[in-house]
Amino acid sequence: VKGCPVEVPIRDFIKLITEYKFMEAAALIKTKNSLPAVTGRVCPQETQCEARCTLGRRYQPVAIGNLERFVADYAREHGEEIPELPPKTGKKVAIVGSGPAGLTCAGDLALLGHEVVVYEALHKPGGVLVYGIPEFRLPKDIVQYEIDYLKKLGVKIHLNFIVGRNKTIDELLEEYDAVFIGTGAGAPRLLNIPGINLVNVYSANEYLTRVNLLKGYKFPEYKTPIKRAKTVVVIGAGNVAMDSARTAKRLGAEKSIIIYRRSRKECPARAEEVHHAEEEGIEFRFLTNPVRIIGDELGKVKAIECLKYELGEPDESGRARPIPIPGSEHIIECELVIVAIGNNPNPIIPSTTPDLEVSKWGTIVTDLKTGKTSKDRVYAGGDIATGAATVIAAMGAGKRAAKTIHKQIMGIEETEEDTSA
Ligand code: FAD
Ligand code: SF4
Repeated sequence: VKGCPVEVPIRDFIKLITEYKFMEAAALIKTKNSLPAVTGRVCPQETQCEARCTLGRRYQPVAIGNLERFVADYAREHGEEIPELPPKTGKKVAIVGSGPAGLTCAGDLALLGHEVVVYEALHKPGGVLVYGIPEFRLPKDIVQYEIDYLKKLGVKIHLNFIVGRNKTIDELLEEYDAVFIGTGAGAPRLLNIPGINLVNVYSANEYLTRVNLLKGYKFPEYKTPIKRAKTVVVIGAGNVAMDSARTAKRLGAEKSIIIYRRSRKECPARAEEVHHAEEEGIEFRFLTNPVRIIGDELGKVKAIECLKYELGEPDESGRARPIPIPGSEHIIECELVIVAIGNNPNPIIPSTTPDLEVSKWGTIVTDLKTGKTSKDRVYAGGDIATGAATVIAAMGAGKRAAKTIHKQIMGIEETEEDTSA
């Protein structure tokens, strides 16, 4: 329980499973975690709940994530009941962004009797759960089910609505008692190397969005094209890089190569993701980093030049510093390059909300315990407050903010437990 960011009552739900009380087990998990079918699939359990399992010290830990996924799927397939809603409070809350932070905050506030309206920039709700994480890891009907569930709780969702463009935060505050910002970290970081602007260099976000959200794999039935290449090079070794390389393989790449400047040990992706990528034949070139991307006469990618690296003393991040080996330049021929080296928060809301304090990394400065920002009646949580993190961390932030918002708009005094860090 201590290893889980939202403290799912693990021992108790597993006991219910041993008694074949699957619906009860799902209901118990939902008291802490409103998207168990999602977290059961995508949580980095090996560093969270399962890392703290006593059995894991000598054997394999209990497969907590898989059990959570099983009961959530069982409940979905056997008709979950909608909980009885309390009388309406007459208070209105706007949620900006429909990723796990926004959806969790919306659900919790609806369950407390508030009117909740979600504003989402894209044409489908779900955030990274729909546009980033591929279908083969997280089937989209599961996300849709969760969205439909929220709608049954009375949550309204406005799509194709960019807060900061269609309406500002200040304009929303004229209509609503409070605003929660859960706009994530969806602005990709790009490399500053020659050739980065060639045709068929994608950021991982664009690549995955074209495939997952815009169904580029069905082009021309769907209008978004996606480059299908024989050899694809993905730069980076986090979860996003694994998703990109595995997606490229499914789109027909004969070779899908991950290049990473450190060694396998420093790979930021979940161990399970690296393992699955290897099983699917993704090629890893560790201790390798790109120098430039090379184009043909039409300006399209035809190769990437790389350098080999070795590891030195740890740097300020505590990880071994990669040092280039002079003279180790080599060329990898490829027709598609995907850059997966991380994401930054989108600047639209900070730049249109002058009195909202923002850190030097572009995140909204937020009290992580309560979700409060520097602006009265405005709360934030998830990747926009912490930088790119995890689904369950974003959900936890949405939950904590919902609790604070409820207390503040209902005029309930906060306790020391609510505010102490
Ligand atoms: P998001 O999920 O990013 O949602 C933000 C939403 O806000 C988006 O829908 C966006 O369109 C919308 N928005 C942005 N700006 C505006 C605006 N101005 N107006 C209206 N709407 C706006 N985490 C894991 O735990 N496990 C994994 O396996 C995992 N895999 C990942 C794979 C990929 C490819 C990516 C990109 C991330 C992955 N993550 C994973 C990280 C995880 O998905 C994020 O940490 C999490 O989704 C953050 O949730 P969020 O609600 O803060 O933001
Ligand atoms: Fe483990 Fe994630 Fe479930 Fe918590 S929410 S128990 S960390 S799988």
